[in-house]
Amino acid sequence: MKIICIGRNYTEHAKEMASPVPDKPIFFFKPDTALLRNNQPFFYPFFSNDVHHEVEVVIKINRLGRNIAEKFAHRYYSEIGLGIDFTARDLQQECKQKGLPWEISKAFDGAAPISNFISIKNLGDVNSIDFWLDKNDRTVQRGNTSQMIFSINRLIAYLSQFVTLKIGDLIYTGTPSGVGPIKVGDRLKAYMNDNLMLDFFIR
Ligand code: ZN
Repeated sequence: MKIICIGRNYTEHAKEMASPVPDKPIFFFKPDTALLRNNQPFFYPFFSNDVHHEVEVVIKINRLGRNIAEKFAHRYYSEIGLGIDFTARDLQQECKQKGLPWEISKAFDGAAPISNFISIKNLGDVNSIDFWLDKNDRTVQRGNTSQMIFSINRLIAYLSQFVTLKIGDLIYTGTPSGVGPIKVGDRLKAYMNDNLMLDFFIR
């Protein structure tokens, strides 16, 4: 399986990063070794001093598809979860400044905590999902999928023009504003439509 991540899919986050709002989706990959399941602790990596949290709605693909029309995209997923796109911001800045790819800041082991998945039947309108992240019981990020620049179905249509989507692939759909640093000892909890999805510690 593969993990596809969308960059800058919320206007307020693009602004806080001083990045332009994109006119088409930006995507990158994480390897499956980045996944962190079952609320396992995240071990702060030695190679960064500025790891940031990015809470994101995650789509699980359930059918093989390529060149999927947007109007049929809803047939390619039936479950949604929450994930964190951990980002070593210091390494990412260094790469950006040099005009290099910034995989190193996103793809490392443990950089993709993932929750269990909820059937969309139990979530209601996928274009109006509320989600938020609490750090040490204070809400630091809050978003709603209605604020996405590119909707879930638009993302699936766009991505599948370039990359065949396979059963079990995950799409991290971008983070709302409020990204910030984590430190050892922090406790992160993430919620989607009032369901506690993630609850783990930084070690
Ligand atoms: Zn992200």
